[in-house]
Amino acid sequence: MGVGASDAPQHQSHLAQADVEENDEKWMALAMEEAQRAYAAGEVPVGAIVVDDKSGQVIGRGWNAPIDRCDPSAHAEMTAMREAGLTRRNYRLTPATLYVTLEPCMMCLGAMIHARVSRLVFATREPKSGAVVSHGNLLGDFPFNWQLEWCEGVKADESRELLQTFFAERRAAVKAGRSGTVADQTP
Ligand SMILES: [Zn+2]
Repeated sequence: MGVGASDAPQHQSHLAQADVEENDEKWMALAMEEAQRAYAAGEVPVGAIVVDDKSGQVIGRGWNAPIDRCDPSAHAEMTAMREAGLTRRNYRLTPATLYVTLEPCMMCLGAMIHARVSRLVFATREPKSGAVVSHGNLLGDFPFNWQLEWCEGVKADESRELLQTFFAERRAAVKAGRSGTVADQTP
């Protein structure tokens, strides 16, 4: 597949520049499928997968489902890491790459460190709760004894569009709900 120079995703790392790898688009497409599941369930559409770097197999998948599961930790990354841990029968996931369609929050980033995820690839930034680049410098400031390589921008437009569609539809539904109440009151 190959990424043209003009539309190459942005990528950064606090380590050496993390190269966007050939398979990143393919794996992020699977993470987008998980995000679509969240969208279909009425949850904020975020999806994640964990890939075993040695075998090249998907060992965990997850979509954002805190409402459905009544669980504030049911973010896509957490669910994918839980499944990956069970697949490996080990909470340490090295060597593994986690793909997620939105910049991770503090909780998920912390769990990635605990799980010794080797590499993180995320699609688009989360300006409110993103903890990799949007706020703070969690990976740089804490004296973690694990260095997580990361890059961003793979399928960023696709992820952003899905999120924007979701929130636009939610706003429209709220608005329609209000006007519907008014309509119901109209004789
Ligand atoms: Zn999270």
